[in-house]
Amino acid sequence: MSNKKILNIILLGPQGSGKGTQAKLLANKFKLEHIEIGNALREIKKDDTILGREVAQIIDKGKMVPFQLVVKIVDKEVAIISANKGIVFDGTPRRLVEIKPLEKILKKNGRHITHVFFVQISERETINRLSKRYICSQCNKIFILEKDVANKSRKCPKCGGNIIRRKDDTPEGIKKRLALYQERTFPVVEYYRQQQKLIKINGEQSIENVFKDIKLYL
Ligand code: AMP
Repeated sequence: MSNKKILNIILLGPQGSGKGTQAKLLANKFKLEHIEIGNALREIKKDDTILGREVAQIIDKGKMVPFQLVVKIVDKEVAIISANKGIVFDGTPRRLVEIKPLEKILKKNGRHITHVFFVQISERETINRLSKRYICSQCNKIFILEKDVANKSRKCPKCGGNIIRRKDDTPEGIKKRLALYQERTFPVVEYYRQQQKLIKINGEQSIENVFKDIKLYL
């Protein structure tokens, strides 16, 4: 199969923009592998190892893990994906230093970035959405309070795991990550804008309509 048809998509957007949801929809519709850095880190966090404890300390405080760890995860994950399968990247690049290593990894694997989507929502909407977000501690499925779950003591309908609040989804954690987003991730958005690769998508619509808008470019 020609490499031209292989999608390698980057999804950018602030916390709560729904890029994770869109990544899952894209992966499902276009049979892509979904590389989700936040989830990979939450899995590492569960390990009772030095690395697991270090990662827990960092992400529970809403900080960023060293970029070398992100690059290592991406390198390992991309290497095992078959060449005829596309990829959707969710959570990287989250700062400028991740851009070149990601490009290098893609090149090494005979790939190149085909689309960079930026799912835009306002700061107010981020705070509003994250304050209602819950997650299954086992399968990482996301639930919105009042919409998907009546109360947080409910079990996950998918796997039976406990539905919990993410430790970093406190008002303070949300504020810290928003500041980090402005300082570290927004320059990434600017980088792709200057490269004329950035496709802006209005994230303040229904999940279906956001997905429709994204699909127009695929
Ligand atoms: P997320 O699920 O995308 O909100 O990510 C959860 C947490 O994982 C973030 O708040 C960071 O602590 C960490 N994280 C995710 N992606 C990255 C990245 N590219 N670089 C550094 N830390 C990251």
